Amino acid sequence: MDTNRRIQLAKKSLKGISIGDAFGESFFGERKLMLNYIEERTIPETTWEFTDDTVMAISVFEQLERSGTIDQDDLAQQFSINHNKDVNRGYGATARRILREIGEGGNWKVISRNAFEGMGSMGNGASMRVGPIGAYYYDNLNEVKHQAKLSAEITHSNIEGITGAIAVSIATALATKFNIESTEVSPKNFIESIIKELPDSDTKSKVNKSLSVPYSYNIETVRNILGDGTKIMVQDTVPFSIWCAAHNLNAFDEALWKAVSILGDRDTICAIVAGITIMSCDEKSIPKDWQNSVEKFEKSIFRKTNKYI
Ligand SMILES: [Mg+2]
Repeated sequence: MDTNRRIQLAKKSLKGISIGDAFGESFFGERKLMLNYIEERTIPETTWEFTDDTVMAISVFEQLERSGTIDQDDLAQQFSINHNKDVNRGYGATARRILREIGEGGNWKVISRNAFEGMGSMGNGASMRVGPIGAYYYDNLNEVKHQAKLSAEITHSNIEGITGAIAVSIATALATKFNIESTEVSPKNFIESIIKELPDSDTKSKVNKSLSVPYSYNIETVRNILGDGTKIMVQDTVPFSIWCAAHNLNAFDEALWKAVSILGDRDTICAIVAGITIMSCDEKSIPKDWQNSVEKFEKSIFRKTNKYI
């Protein structure tokens, strides 16, 4: 496959991330009210602005666009530059500190390793931005894992933080591959194919656990088993996101309604789910008003070139 086509695939995943991110962000509010919106399939009044998930995914995408590989030093700088362009995009406290320190000339390797008293971050921030890598290298899972790890380490040196990025990028790659090859895949096979690629970790165990969770389970029960992202950690964000995507590979909008219904870390969970499922769906199946309303990453201040792509 030629490079241009790969870039288009990566861009498609980024578009999914931006829609999911902005969609999910719209549902922060009083719980009962949000549950009503979800039941009625109505989106609350919203600016459709995306958040840190998409801002960081733009920088990952640009690495692929430039050379097809992640240059960690350059990506660290881009993350920091974009953080400074608009600090009010929902970054977590640790991410803010890491990106600020990188901007002040700090060495990302030291900063990332020292996070959380030397454990490194197991937050979900590396998972939310990695979709474009899976789409770009959909036919080479070893390269997906390698590039995903490179993209994660800048801010998430803990094995869980890295495993989350690998899981989401592999899921995106498989969704892309099955779509291109017109292969139908069951949720079970999809999840099992991801598990095979994961290093031993809590995240892997929990993704494995998702195999035993029927889609018909009450969402409260699903939350108790798989988590909902409120701890902002990979272990309670990625297993549910993968499970949700696996059961909705051919239904982008259904995937997002299910993703938001758990009312957890909703921008990030919806960004992850959308970055995966957009790859296995026809773009025409995405509701027109969602596509038209979402803040356009192509024109945003976070594009390095600030040109259309
Ligand atoms: Mg966010």
